[in-house]
Amino acid sequence: MEIKEIILIKNGELALKGLNRSSFEDKLIKNIKRRISDLGNFNCTKGQSTIMIEPTDDTADLSQAVERISKVFGIAAFSRACKCEKDFDAIKKTAVEYLAEELEDASTFKVETKRADKKFPMKSPEISRELGGYLLGKFRNLKVDVHNPDITVTVEIRDNYVFIRGNNIKGAGGMPTGTNGRAMVLISGGIDSPVASYMMAKRGIELCSIHFASPPYTSELAEMKVMQLLKKVAQYCGAITTFVVPFTELQEAIRDNCQEEYFTVIMRRIMMIIAERLATEQNCSALITGESVGQVASQTINALACTNCAVNMPVFRPCIGMDKDEIIAISRKIDTFETSIQPYEDCCTVFTPKHPKTKPHIDEIIAQQNSIPDLETLIDEAINNVKKAVVK
Ligand code: ATP
Ligand code: MG
Repeated sequence: MEIKEIILIKNGELALKGLNRSSFEDKLIKNIKRRISDLGNFNCTKGQSTIMIEPTDDTADLSQAVERISKVFGIAAFSRACKCEKDFDAIKKTAVEYLAEELEDASTFKVETKRADKKFPMKSPEISRELGGYLLGKFRNLKVDVHNPDITVTVEIRDNYVFIRGNNIKGAGGMPTGTNGRAMVLISGGIDSPVASYMMAKRGIELCSIHFASPPYTSELAEMKVMQLLKKVAQYCGAITTFVVPFTELQEAIRDNCQEEYFTVIMRRIMMIIAERLATEQNCSALITGESVGQVASQTINALACTNCAVNMPVFRPCIGMDKDEIIAISRKIDTFETSIQPYEDCCTVFTPKHPKTKPHIDEIIAQQNSIPDLETLIDEAINNVKKAVVK
């Protein structure tokens, strides 16, 4: 018997309910299609409150599609399922064959039937009872547990066919990428900014990113590390347009003209100013950073306030109230941790002051910043020399 396997995403498993549902679903379907487009030919359709993803030929790789879809935002849960004829003998045979492995591994199970097509000759409870009895006969390891079964076998009688499926797979949650505008993340090679990127992307924000590189103080490898991190994040949110800004001259200008204790905060302000300019060009309406209160001297409330007021755009800092171990737990989950801990210099670790001011005063900071000759020109030059890449 040929098993026709598909992927089902039910309405109840979408993250958003209510008014925007339809445009939200259309966006989600587009995102899914884009994400699996290189895995073969699939049909992606919406109907009877379900999104169905169906391979249309043998080249389509369903297992890889499952892996990809588990990282698409906007899906709370989904399932692999098998399509079968609308005939009870076929249902029994298909359930045994399709779910054999899972049923052999389970100790308890139940059968649930959903009959959308009321013309089907058997009623739901009858199908569940009959199929349950049949499976008990086939799998001697199984007992029925209707409250907390290891596996729930679900039979759905639809208009044109029957779907049979086992347990749900957990989805990535969140909202479909692109349903909440665009923002630009300041990405370093550290642990926090990839996590911050993931967290905001999860809320449906499409990401652009900006990275400041200071060769020869920072290496080519540091830049490649950032690209690797963005690639991991892109598995969740799709392609990320990325800008690498040459930052050496600006950092040297800060070093040569400002008091050492203010280096970091002034550098962070200039990063924000450049990020805001590029963000505006890219139609982004917010900036994102990986800052967390108190983590380092440049992240005290006072220092953050001095950084913040360099720009007008809202700055999202999703890690702001998190401990390092909480941030690390997320970075492990999204598989960026091992890359983040590779030891390459970031421009933030170049010219770091020995005694940074933890309570910088904004007037002093601005005075110091204004003492840099031709700052505007240096900023323009840096922006004119950005390298652009699309990471996916
Ligand atoms: P991370 O772990 O993300 O590097 P961090 O705790 O090391 O963060 P900092 O180095 O002080 O903190 O940087 C704070 C934030 O500033 C980062 O989370 C990131 O958003 C931004 N940032 C730092 N360095 C760079 C850089 N080279 N390019 C772009 N953004 C940066
Ligand atoms: Mg850092």
